[in-house]
Amino acid sequence: MTDPHRARINALRDRLAALDLDALLVSSLPNIRWLTGFSGSSGLVVVTAREVVLLTDFRYATQVEDEVSDDVRVVIVAQSLWTGLWEVLGALLTVQRVGFDSAHLVHRDFQRLLEKGGRWQWRPTTDVVEQLRESKDPTEVAAIRRAIGMAESALATTLSQIAPGMTETMVAGVLEKALRDAGSEDYPFPSIVASGARSALPHARAGDRTLATGDFVLIDFGAVAHGYCSDITRTVVLGKATEEQREVYDVVKEANARASRLVEAGMRGMDADALAREYIHARGFGEAFGHSLGHGIGLEVHEAPRLAKTAEAVLPVGAVVTIEPGIYRPGWGGIRIEDDVLLTESGPLVLSGFDRDLLEIM
Ligand code: ZN
Ligand code: ZN
Repeated sequence: MTDPHRARINALRDRLAALDLDALLVSSLPNIRWLTGFSGSSGLVVVTAREVVLLTDFRYATQVEDEVSDDVRVVIVAQSLWTGLWEVLGALLTVQRVGFDSAHLVHRDFQRLLEKGGRWQWRPTTDVVEQLRESKDPTEVAAIRRAIGMAESALATTLSQIAPGMTETMVAGVLEKALRDAGSEDYPFPSIVASGARSALPHARAGDRTLATGDFVLIDFGAVAHGYCSDITRTVVLGKATEEQREVYDVVKEANARASRLVEAGMRGMDADALAREYIHARGFGEAFGHSLGHGIGLEVHEAPRLAKTAEAVLPVGAVVTIEPGIYRPGWGGIRIEDDVLLTESGPLVLSGFDRDLLEIM
């Protein structure tokens, strides 16, 4: 285990002690990756005060040895992960109270715990590892920075090729090829390219609409580096912007700037959300900002903490969050500007730097 993983396991052990648990069964793959470095698609991890055991199958026998350190005991299961789990737990004689993650265990697997795991006391937990993941260490911030760099270079390539007559999916194709060329391991989510009136649909996928002069084109996408995601949105206009387009755009731009400047660790997610929402409201577009301001990014593109009207949890130092205000007017179009911001002890550090002025694509 490289040092970051050891520190993460130790932080988890402190939590287990506080929760009065002898062990935690970790079944979510991003949580497994964060704790051990293992990036395969099949695995279970058991963490106790003394041991970390990773169960996976023969497909990953070589990969797992490359990815995890000697601190992790790897068990390659002969049959199923669950059969292996009973054997591993059975050998951990002092383990009685075992936490499981209630958000990541499907009902069929929960029934296995009840039927075959009757020897142990199963305790539901929520977000134990997720909360630890909120604060990024330097290796994680470096990976996110890489993913942002890839996304920004891909966006520059895309904007140099975008033109009326292309469909949204063609633009997404240019973007996604450019992401791959920049080294992105994956796409964190299907890239959003929404043009004209469709830009008013906050989660539109790229469709077969043909871009025309005068359209807003909203592009929301990301890259993945060492498993870590970036998440960026820019909205451009094809040709010359109208006065109305510019006016509404500037409201979103100012909301983004205010929130990026004033968001800070120690603030509740709801107070961060208000930084942009109150401004948009005061400018008369309150009803048109129908989603939350942002979310954490990391191994997953949507993770804790949340920046939303209902988010009471405090934003921790080290979180990397998105700031993504938007205004959406049905039939007219929509604008969103999304940046990725690191909450340091001394204030926010905006990691993404792509031009936020309204770009007119000629
Ligand atoms: Zn996004
Ligand atoms: Zn986002």
